[in-house]
Amino acid sequence: MHRRLIAPGALVAASLLLAIPASAASHSPGAPGIGDPYYPYYGNGGYDVSHYDLRLQYQPKTDELQGTATILARTTQDLSSFDLDFLLDVSEVRVNGAKAAFATAGQHELVVTPKTPLAKGTAVTVVVRYSGVPSAKSAYGFTTWHRTPDGAVAADEPEAAWWWFPSNDHPRDKATYDVSVAVPDGTQAISNGTLQSSVSKLGWTRYNWRQNKPQATYLTTLALGRFDITTGTSDGGVPVVNAYSKDLGDNDGAARASVERTGEIVDWLSGYFGPYPFGSAGGYVPNTTTGYALETQTRVYYSPKQFAGGSNTSVVVHELAHQWYGDDVSLEDWKDIWINEGFARYAQWLWSEHEGEGTTRELADYVYASHPAGDAFWTVAPGDPGADNQFDIAVYDRGALAIQALRDEIGDDAFFAVLKGWPKEHAYGNASVADFRKYAERVSGKPLAALFDTWLFQPSKPAAGTGRSLARAAAPAVRPKSWKRIEATNAVHGH
Ligand SMILES: [Zn+2]
Repeated sequence: MHRRLIAPGALVAASLLLAIPASAASHSPGAPGIGDPYYPYYGNGGYDVSHYDLRLQYQPKTDELQGTATILARTTQDLSSFDLDFLLDVSEVRVNGAKAAFATAGQHELVVTPKTPLAKGTAVTVVVRYSGVPSAKSAYGFTTWHRTPDGAVAADEPEAAWWWFPSNDHPRDKATYDVSVAVPDGTQAISNGTLQSSVSKLGWTRYNWRQNKPQATYLTTLALGRFDITTGTSDGGVPVVNAYSKDLGDNDGAARASVERTGEIVDWLSGYFGPYPFGSAGGYVPNTTTGYALETQTRVYYSPKQFAGGSNTSVVVHELAHQWYGDDVSLEDWKDIWINEGFARYAQWLWSEHEGEGTTRELADYVYASHPAGDAFWTVAPGDPGADNQFDIAVYDRGALAIQALRDEIGDDAFFAVLKGWPKEHAYGNASVADFRKYAERVSGKPLAALFDTWLFQPSKPAAGTGRSLARAAAPAVRPKSWKRIEATNAVHGH
């Protein structure tokens, strides 16, 4: 995934809001951010969402979206007001049935003031009625609502929800979803999870999707357009639903030849990561012009550009690996991105070995040898890369190299036990890089602080002789066959 920069200056002024003393229960506003060091205003403080019910209607011709979001949450502090992250035009907000006051603030805050303050530990139902043209809205100068010739797509990282539903927009607050969307007959609406039903009436078709496992807001996706939908079941029993724009042109065959292998790849990954964590799998390929792919939960987003050079199962492996590493177990803060991207990249290395196009060892040696010590590649520390470098190529390649170093250090038995045990250890939850290190130490019985520091946190090339994997690092850089395909996953991100 790619990333754009948020001007740090904008954050300083807004942080003064946090300094207002909450001296009385009558004045105890929820914080405008959940506390992420990279993105201080992403997510919000004071409550925890358990479920989003989104009932929407979309007109592709005009990009007009209207909807009602019903949000079930529980307060984690006394709240005189609280924020949602949202950009569309709100007409009404109700809190526990009563009309609430609301106002916009900052870049993407909707501040809701209930008629009476909410006590800590209260169950809250928030209803937000809204409408708008998502493509006309921007925050920090960008939009992540991508229009297509026949509709639109919401799929981006680390933010995508602001353009289509109000939320507590941070992976730390995962929730279940019902997404119900009415579109003109002939248009399809694709979202996460399982299609419960689709009903046509008076020229409109309503698609009802359900995600019954916890899901991060950025992994919640919506695609509207003319799609061909395929269904099946993997040998391992995982239902698969894929969707292809009817206008993929020359990329249609290569897209299908890649994404139709989802069931096979899910089963193959289960051998390394344990049982598939969700009730369905799949992907969709809309006719977008954006270049990346994204691990949207159970229904991966693929740009058609990922298949412009022919079929590409490597990107399918990457995004499906995220279903365990990123979606099932989500990062605690955005600085923990290595747990997502390092392991999704390493899964591509395992697939390369499986396909006979280069072993993980050869790929690790190639990454190490092909970047000289002075290369900027080594200045990005995958364990805490900074918001600017969150999706830098080093997070992926250096990140996977660190995983090979871990494997060399603890041996295959412990390594594969860690790989499979981690998703179970934190199923449907959140965890940090520090949590991962402690887990690997527990499973392997080896202290790993120095190894993690060298490979993940130092802004420099680990010296030859540091760790067993580097005993071989003097080997010349031989490019494995799979290399171009693996890197193509990132090349279209604009790094
Ligand atoms: Zn990824």
